[in-house]
Amino acid sequence: MINKGKILVTGGTGYIGSHTCVELIEQGYEVLIIDNLSNSESFIIDRIEEISGVRPKFYQFDLLEADKVDTFFDENKNLKGIIHFAASKAVGESVKEPLKYYQNNLMGMVNLLEGMKLYGVKNIVFSSSCTVYGQPDSLPVNESAPVKPAESPYGYTKQVNENILKDTVAAVDHIRGIALRYFNPIGAHASGLIGELPKGVPANLMPFITQTAYGLREQLSVFGDDYETPDGSCIRDYIHVVDLAKAHIIAIERLVDGKNTDGYEVFNIGTGNGFSVLEVIKSFEKTTGIKLNYKVAPRRAGDIVQIWADTKIGNEVLGWKAEKTLDEMTSSAWTWEKNYRESASQ
Ligand code: NAD
Repeated sequence: MINKGKILVTGGTGYIGSHTCVELIEQGYEVLIIDNLSNSESFIIDRIEEISGVRPKFYQFDLLEADKVDTFFDENKNLKGIIHFAASKAVGESVKEPLKYYQNNLMGMVNLLEGMKLYGVKNIVFSSSCTVYGQPDSLPVNESAPVKPAESPYGYTKQVNENILKDTVAAVDHIRGIALRYFNPIGAHASGLIGELPKGVPANLMPFITQTAYGLREQLSVFGDDYETPDGSCIRDYIHVVDLAKAHIIAIERLVDGKNTDGYEVFNIGTGNGFSVLEVIKSFEKTTGIKLNYKVAPRRAGDIVQIWADTKIGNEVLGWKAEKTLDEMTSSAWTWEKNYRESASQ
């Protein structure tokens, strides 16, 4: 098998990270994972191996431990690049515990960039988010739309991290970076072996749907059906996690091949289509045959009404395009939930 070189994936046992590890291995990369398992489980390493046939090298530690990050770089001097997923990601929790978010999301990035600077590592892809746009003035939203005041400490860490990366690229000759602004990743790998595995009550729609369908939650709340959207519920650009994972391979290769002549670039990663919460529920019910127990609840403070991506730059410059449909997203999410619950109960 060809070896295209070593890629470090931080947060590689997490939801998007694990799918990206599989794609990287399948493309011939040697994958090294750093994860502290604060929001994931070690069995995911077995699952990555089961799907791809290769076991990634796993380093279990916290990116906040600067000495361990330094030792990692010292021991792995020939990294081709880094894909940096590791962060805390619950918007609501970030409002209650802002310092945890500023510590974890900002210092993790700083420690990683320090290591890259010191050890000559060149390329980094960073997980940003469409939260940086807030409620955009026009839709679809493109990369030059203004970054709006953040609605939460979590959102603010994404904005600040983009700036940290941009400033570092400007100041350190050898470092180049791409920030990918994800829209709403859902779905799971076709094998049903990896998927989204939230700890505690899910903060996102899709795992709440699948857990309700499985009987773990009594009822799903749809927050608001009186917005100015066709069916009154909020609209998002849902993207299949495997399509999203593939965007990372293309982005890291763009950096490795020296194609990003600007040094720092930003791309939207979405499908370009908006679907409402009620449409996602309908797709889930259609693909699984399960009638979902849901109710309409009052609007939730701070929710963006509608957002979807302008994907032109990603499609043309990056050469990436989302391929999977909403039905593939909802059905794969269900297959994963069912498989996981059944395997966990054995
Ligand atoms: P996740 O929680 O499933 O994965 C993150 C992983 O990072 C976890 O395995 C966690 O244990 C690890 N981690 C966290 N802090 C760490 C630290 N200090 N040291 C080492 N490991 C640490 O989240 P995800 O959904 O896969 O998201 C990955 C990235 O994408 C995050 O940066 C998130 O903010 C961003 N993002 C996610 C979404 C989404 O809806 N899932 C949307 C936009 C952006």
